[in-house]
Amino acid sequence: MRLILVLSALLGLVYCRETFVGDQVLEVTPKNEDQIKNLLELEAEEHLELDFWKSPTTSGQTVHVRVPFVSLQAVKVFLELQGIDYSIMIEDVQALLDEEKEEMLLNQRERNGNFNFETYHTLDEIYQEMDHIVAEHPGLVSKVNIGHSFEKRPMNVLKFSTGGNKPAIWLDAGIHAREWVTQATALWTANKIATEYGKDAFITSLLDQMDLFLLPVTNPDGYVFSHTTNRMWRKTRSKAAGRACVGVDPNRNWDAGFAGPGASNKPCSDSYHGPSPNSEVEVKSIVDFIKSHGNFKAFITIHSYSQLLMFPYGYKCSKSDTFDELNQVAQQAAKAVESLYGTKYRVGPICTVIYQASGGSIDWAYDYGIKYSFAFELRDTGRYGFLLPAKQILPTAQETWLGLQSIMEYVRDHPY
Ligand SMILES: [Zn+2]
Repeated sequence: MRLILVLSALLGLVYCRETFVGDQVLEVTPKNEDQIKNLLELEAEEHLELDFWKSPTTSGQTVHVRVPFVSLQAVKVFLELQGIDYSIMIEDVQALLDEEKEEMLLNQRERNGNFNFETYHTLDEIYQEMDHIVAEHPGLVSKVNIGHSFEKRPMNVLKFSTGGNKPAIWLDAGIHAREWVTQATALWTANKIATEYGKDAFITSLLDQMDLFLLPVTNPDGYVFSHTTNRMWRKTRSKAAGRACVGVDPNRNWDAGFAGPGASNKPCSDSYHGPSPNSEVEVKSIVDFIKSHGNFKAFITIHSYSQLLMFPYGYKCSKSDTFDELNQVAQQAAKAVESLYGTKYRVGPICTVIYQASGGSIDWAYDYGIKYSFAFELRDTGRYGFLLPAKQILPTAQETWLGLQSIMEYVRDHPY
């Protein structure tokens, strides 16, 4: 009996791997109020199983939506009947996934004994490399375990410190599982800081005055699931009795305007806020750590995609008390990003730049008293979306570093 159970579980794993054969990502551009309304209605049609990479907004921004093959005809007919302009952004999602997989198999092996930062890696590989960085730089980098995910995977933070308990900067990536370029960028950044302390003037002066805490994989369960089963997974993997779907959007789960506009109360939605603030252990672990540390001066979170640099607020649309200063810091950082390869960022409060979104991490950090709170949305603006080719990891990480450096320099020079 037990053997049969094990076998069927294994078969289940094989057969449950989601495929995206024939799925397309459409770029949809509404022209007027009526068309915006139509798109908002389309979003509410759960049976179509649409995956909005960029949701419709009341201000009428461009929409990106992955349409499952079985819903394609219905959606296209709907758009054409309403006279809504659209184009095909990705012709066949599965074809891109196959390319990505092939690229990983080809390149994930170490090159000349060195970790290859220019390809996507599994969680195990990332954790091994984090251990390696710690082992190579024992006086500078240490591993801090701040808790465990829902499925009991460790949440490991890299602490960069030259000793003592200095004012600190928080940096995290990958709170949304499928945003793979963010975990990759974080790991590259960790390696850069570790190897260039004592050589690079900025890194050296920063770590002589401040500590840096870097969490490369904020949502480890989701990240693993995005490798094994569903590349498009965004949420955590928490389960609750009586709840129809798995997972909560961990960036709607913070205690900042919780359950307000821009978060869903439907458990099957990709922006489900969860039953209560900090219900997700991944979020609670960070909150507890930041509170117990007590001396964070900056909180920076890295998402993809859209090329944005945002600051509070998301849960409300009024300006924060420090709007002018945060705006100036962000504008400066966006210029720094652009200086390397010409990648253009839009800058502003979350509510203005995208839409009202409640329960987000930087709003919580800001209201908690961490003035310099920022959210990056890395490359691109939609050619590949979440499926950014591995070839772009290095240039993305390099340009992002210039933006991070610009912010961290300012934080270092403006103690409060
Ligand atoms: Zn995200």
